[in-house]
Amino acid sequence: MECYREAIYALAVPASFSSFGSVPKSFLRRQPHEGIFLMNIIELTRALIDIESITGNEEQVGHYLFDTLSGLAARFGGRVERMEVEPRRFNVFAQFGDCPAVTLSTHMDTVPPFFASSEDGENIYGRAACDTKGIIASMIKAAEALLESGGTNLGLLFVVGEERNSAGAYQASRHPRGSRFLINGEPTENLLALGSKGSLRYEIAASGRMAHSAYPELGESAIEKLLDALSAIRKVQLPVDELLGPSTLNIGTISGGRAPNIIPDAAKAEVMIRLVGDATSTDEAIRRAVEGKAAANEVLRIPALRLGALAGFETTVVAYTTDIPAFGGTWGRPFLMGPGTIHVAHTLDERVPKPQLLEAVEIYQRMVRQLWNEK
Ligand SMILES: [Zn+2]
Repeated sequence: MECYREAIYALAVPASFSSFGSVPKSFLRRQPHEGIFLMNIIELTRALIDIESITGNEEQVGHYLFDTLSGLAARFGGRVERMEVEPRRFNVFAQFGDCPAVTLSTHMDTVPPFFASSEDGENIYGRAACDTKGIIASMIKAAEALLESGGTNLGLLFVVGEERNSAGAYQASRHPRGSRFLINGEPTENLLALGSKGSLRYEIAASGRMAHSAYPELGESAIEKLLDALSAIRKVQLPVDELLGPSTLNIGTISGGRAPNIIPDAAKAEVMIRLVGDATSTDEAIRRAVEGKAAANEVLRIPALRLGALAGFETTVVAYTTDIPAFGGTWGRPFLMGPGTIHVAHTLDERVPKPQLLEAVEIYQRMVRQLWNEK
C-alpha cells in the first residue's frame, strides 16, 4: 500500500466524524493551553477494569472506549467508529491518517466473575488486569505518544467476544480497513510471541462383546482393544518443529467396563495432542495406530500458528489461542505481544505489574515505528 509511506509524518487532518463533545469530563483532563489529555496509564487501566465487560456485556466499555478514542481523535485528526457485531455489541475502531498501516488490537470482553480494581506499589489487580484491560491502556498510551511525536497511519481496534467465539474479530475480518500489520495484544510478559501450539483432540472408543469372565473366549474385551490402541498411539512419532518444539500427547481420561467378572463391551479414552504444525500428518498417524482396535473420533482441531518475528525484540512461544486465526490475515501480518502473564489470567489473582505496563507502552511504539518502515 503506497499511501502510508507518503503520509507517515504528514500533518494530521481534522477529525471527520469524531464525537469530541460526548467525552465525559471524568476521564479526560482539561489543562489550560494544553488541550485535552487522557488519564495516566494506571488510572486508565483501573477505569477500564472497573467497567464490567464479561463476554456478551461489552456495551458499556465499548461506549467508554469510543469516547476515549474520540478524545484522541479530536487532538490528532482521527476518526472513530462503532463496528456493530450484534445489537448492543460492537467493536471500536479508531483510524489516524489515510491508511492505518499498523493496527494495535485486542479484545474488550472478559471471563467471569467480575471483581473491581485495586493496586499496591507493584501491581494493579482486578478482572482482566492483564487479559486485557492493561493491554488496552498500554495500546492507547502508545498511540497517544506516537501521534504526539508526529506519527500517523495508525489504527486502534478493540473487539468483542474473544473469550467465547471471536465474534468481534470475525466481524472485523469482514470489514478490513487496509491495515498491513496487526499487533494483537494478549499477555506474553512483553515478549514477542513467535508462534502458538495448536490442538487436536480425540475420543478413542473401543467396542467388544460381553461374556462371563470365566469364559473369555466367548467374549471380546473392549478394554484390551483400547489398551492396545493407546499403546500404539504412544509409539507414534509426533512431529517436532524447530521453533515450537515437540508435539506433546496426553491421555487425559480413560473409562470402560462394567464389573470385574464381565468381559467389557465398551471402553473409551480422551486424548489431546498439542500440535506444532498442521494436523494432517498427525491425524493420519493416529488413525493408522488405532486401526482394527478402536475408533478415533475427532473432537477439536486447531492448527499451530506462526507469527511474525521482528529484529530487536525478545521472543517467546505460547500455548493458548487468540483472535489471530479469526482475523485470517485480513488486517495484515499478525504479531502477538502484551504485558502481564497468562498464568494469572482468568484467575481470582489476576494482576498486571505496573513496570510491565509502562514498558509495553514503549515496546508498542518501537514495534509500530519498525513496522511503518517495513515493506
Ligand atoms: Zn485474552
